[in-house]
Amino acid sequence: MFITIEGMDGSGKTTALLRVKKHLEDLNYKVVMTREPGGLPISEKIRDLILNKDSQGMEPWTEALLFIAARKEHLEKVIKPYLKQGYIVISDRFMDSTTAYQGGARGLGVDYLNELQKTILEGFLPDLTLYFELSFEDAEKRLSGRHDEKNRLDEEGRKFKESVKQAFEDLSKKETQRITVIDASKTPDEVFEQTKNVILEKIEL
Ligand code: ATP
Ligand code: C5P
Ligand code: MG
Repeated sequence: MFITIEGMDGSGKTTALLRVKKHLEDLNYKVVMTREPGGLPISEKIRDLILNKDSQGMEPWTEALLFIAARKEHLEKVIKPYLKQGYIVISDRFMDSTTAYQGGARGLGVDYLNELQKTILEGFLPDLTLYFELSFEDAEKRLSGRHDEKNRLDEEGRKFKESVKQAFEDLSKKETQRITVIDASKTPDEVFEQTKNVILEKIEL
C-alpha cells in the first residue's frame, strides 16, 4: 500500500504523519515513512540543490525536472523495494506537489505536468493520497512559529502560494478516486484522527 500526503507548506503534514506512523506500528503494521524531495542520498542532494539560496532564479523547467528526477530515484530505489517487502509506504509529498508547485504556481500547466509525470512514473500511482487543505493565512501563522532549515522557496509570496492551493484543489476535484481531502484547520488531535481513520479504512478494505 502506497500512501502520499500533499498540501501547502505549514499545513501540518509532517506533524500528523509522525503520529500516524507510530499508531500503525502499534497495530503491528510494517510502516516506512519517507519524504520528497529527498528520501535517499542522491535525491537529498537534488533537494539541497533546488532549495539552496544559490539556486535563486532557477528556470521553472529546471526546477520541475530536478524534482521529477529526485522522484524517479526515490520511487525505484526506496518506494518500490519496500512495497515488495510488504511495507505500507507513506511519502510526505509526491507527484502532486510538482503538479501544484511547478505546474500550477510556476505556470508549466497542471494537467500537463500531471500527465507527464504519469508517463515518467510509468503509470505507477499512489493507492491513496491525502490532501491537507488549509487557508493561506492559517499556514502562514503556523510557519511563523516553526524554526527549521531555511530554503529559498520559503520566500515565495502570497500569489504563489494561493496558486499552489488552487492547483491542489483542482487536482483533488479531478482525481476523486485517489485523493481524499483532510480538513487541516482542525487541532493536531483532530487532524491525526481524520488522517488515521482514512488510512485505516483503506488498509482494512
Ligand atoms: P512543510 O510542507 O513546510 O514541510 P508541513 O505541512 O509538514 O510543512 P508541519 O511542519 O507539520 O507542516 O507543521 C507546521 C507548523 O504548524 C509546526 O510548527 C507544527 O507544530 C504546527 N502544526 C501542525 N499541525 C497543526 C495543527 N493541526 N494545528 C496547529 N498547528 C499545527
Ligand atoms: O515539505 P518540505 O518542507 O520538505 O518541502 C520542501 C520545499 O520544497 C517546500 O518549500 C515546498 O514548498 C517545496 N516544493 C516545491 N515543489 C515541489 C515539492 C516541494 O516547490 N514539487
Ligand atoms: Mg513537512
